[in-house]
Amino acid sequence: MATPASPTKINTQFSAQDADITIQSSDGVLFKLHRQNLGTNTGGFPGMEISTQEEIVHLPEPAKVLEIVFQFVYPKKHPKLKGLDFGTILEVSEAVEKYEVFAAMNICEIRLHEFPPDRAANVFVHAIKHEYPELINKTAVLFCRYPALDLIKGLGLPAHCIIPWLQYQAAWQEIFDNVTQYIERLKADTQCTFATLKKGNSIHNICGICRMSLLCHVARLSRIETLSSLNEALESPRLLVDKIDKYSWCDSCTSTTATCGVYAPIIRNTLQAAVAAIPPFTHFLKVNTAGRPK
Ligand SMILES: [Zn+2]
Ligand SMILES: [Zn+2]
Repeated sequence: MATPASPTKINTQFSAQDADITIQSSDGVLFKLHRQNLGTNTGGFPGMEISTQEEIVHLPEPAKVLEIVFQFVYPKKHPKLKGLDFGTILEVSEAVEKYEVFAAMNICEIRLHEFPPDRAANVFVHAIKHEYPELINKTAVLFCRYPALDLIKGLGLPAHCIIPWLQYQAAWQEIFDNVTQYIERLKADTQCTFATLKKGNSIHNICGICRMSLLCHVARLSRIETLSSLNEALESPRLLVDKIDKYSWCDSCTSTTATCGVYAPIIRNTLQAAVAAIPPFTHFLKVNTAGRPK
């Protein structure tokens, strides 16, 4: 571990003459505080019961984070945490949970809800650690299709979440498997034929080329990582289908008005309904931890 930088300055906001505790940030800034405030307004800082004498308490957070956190410990108007970069919001939120700075918890949660898409996974892990179900579900759905290993290893997903996460991802995979099976079950013919019978029933036979195109389309949809991109692709399925280089619609489907394009809205509606029916991630967490000894 690096040795802390030597103290060079005292934070101007926290430099009271009658302070009875000195805290040093990881980057060497001193904060002069009152133990009584720390003791009554937080759950994780030394309160009156601990004598700190002349010692300096070293904390691993940088001054820019501590300066924000300590503002919530004093009886004055608290900061709204607006205009901060998201990395700082995350650091402050983490410190607030660690030191149990109760007055800051709600505003941190509000700010975390404003996460940029590329930080969804970080917010997810934070929300899991500190049990913020709304944040957990709001972020989980955004990267539910990411490779599981990246999340588990790269972000350090807590052990009790690994099985629920794999089940959550399996639920997502299943909806694509179901659509694939629907396409596989379409009646085979040498060419695509469509006919509507008197009773409103219809005949849909599909040729090998068109079936391959549809399967290719679903395979592509299943590889889309984010929910917003998936929704976009579902709303304009031909965009994807047209991009398939190797496969395309057969002659009978490109020359007539009745084409295998009819399957696109069926696939879209089926997938959208299935996506909407997937329980939120906290459901999988609950199911798995229900019988777990505490
Ligand atoms: Zn065909
Ligand atoms: Zn066709």
